[in-house]
Amino acid sequence: MSAASTLTGCATPSETAQRPVLRERGQREVFCGLTGIVWLHRKMQDAFFLVVGSRTCAHLLQSAAGVMIFAEPRFATAIMEERDLAGMVDCQDELDRVVGRLLERRPDIKTLFLVGSCPSEVIKLDLAKAAERLGAQHMPAVRILNYSGSGIETTFTQGEDACLAALVPEMPAASPDAPQDLLIVGSLPDIVEDQFLRLFAQLGIERVGCLPARNARDLPSIGPNTRYLLAQPFLAETAMALETRGAQRLDALFPFGAEGTTSWLKAAADAFDVDEMHFNRVIAPGRERAKRAISHAKAQLEGKRISFLPDSQLEVPLARFLATELDMVPVEVGTPYLHRSHCAQELDLIPPSARISEGQDVERQLDRVRADKPDLTVCGLGLANPLESEGLSTKWAIELVFSPIHGFDQAGDLAELFARPLRRRDVLEV
Ligand code: SF4
Repeated sequence: MSAASTLTGCATPSETAQRPVLRERGQREVFCGLTGIVWLHRKMQDAFFLVVGSRTCAHLLQSAAGVMIFAEPRFATAIMEERDLAGMVDCQDELDRVVGRLLERRPDIKTLFLVGSCPSEVIKLDLAKAAERLGAQHMPAVRILNYSGSGIETTFTQGEDACLAALVPEMPAASPDAPQDLLIVGSLPDIVEDQFLRLFAQLGIERVGCLPARNARDLPSIGPNTRYLLAQPFLAETAMALETRGAQRLDALFPFGAEGTTSWLKAAADAFDVDEMHFNRVIAPGRERAKRAISHAKAQLEGKRISFLPDSQLEVPLARFLATELDMVPVEVGTPYLHRSHCAQELDLIPPSARISEGQDVERQLDRVRADKPDLTVCGLGLANPLESEGLSTKWAIELVFSPIHGFDQAGDLAELFARPLRRRDVLEV
């Protein structure tokens, strides 16, 4: 595969946009979008994910999600055999049969996602057409949607983005004169979502919906009076779909750490005219708790140099959190895709000495990590062991996606996730 790196500035006139970004195009080392099913199937309790893929896809899902012995699983793979790939059978007919059998056996399924994979895309199996045809047969009992989880040119968090974007057209339309409402966008663990809902209620913001909803059939309504907050930085396609339905994004830091969470809540408070004093009163206890919890990891982390290899798309807001709240020194912040406007406030807070890179060329990036010798490198599973064997401490990026890390009450745990590998290294060195 050919490799290329270019150093570019950005087009918009803000200071952030002028910041040079190293663009990388080369060999990539990331999981594919099917990985998102692992957390999405837990979140949407009446949904089922049917991957149309190969044995490799089935194997990835099984090993990433673990084998569920006692529960009826809410994901499966319709395995395409060689004769499917060779075009010797009609895949659409086969799919109809598989879906028919599944829905007959599982009346609890209310939303079925047909999830595309590399093999289904290579043979150009039209899952949008399949979803439409099957939807006509099974509605209203089951809503059938489709999205792509393929690993071609994507990274693993884009699976969630594609899934949520597929849900947006299904959201009921709010009338243009409906009162202003708030939408939290991005899959959060229920416990974290509940904390945010409690805080919004205390602030006096009552009309709050979540995408995804815990029951995929209970989608919140959307319209020109919807203001939305992104909980995750990897939801570009979903954001675009929401805006085509009239919703407006509230610009804020992402809710990581005391300051990120404050900024995120403040953006909503401002949009809903919450009194400043009331806002401060409501958030003060949580903010103080977060600061106290973060301070426990500070002695371990302050002054330490950290590099991020592009993986989860959480890299930019996490680097900001570590730099501003723990005094870490980001050396390189690599991200698979950089959404400049969603991350503008984040980029402004990352020290100018940090190298920002977008895209992946794994060999070049590893060479830079070896030359930079950061105290900690956040990277994919496959890169961690080789780096550890070279004496570099690492943190698995995917762990940050699977752990509850948003909000005031998780800020201490988030800091601890970075402190732990350094503490382990210190213990081993003694
Ligand atoms: S979708 Fe593609 S990258 Fe993902 S497991 Fe299947 S074949 Fe592999």
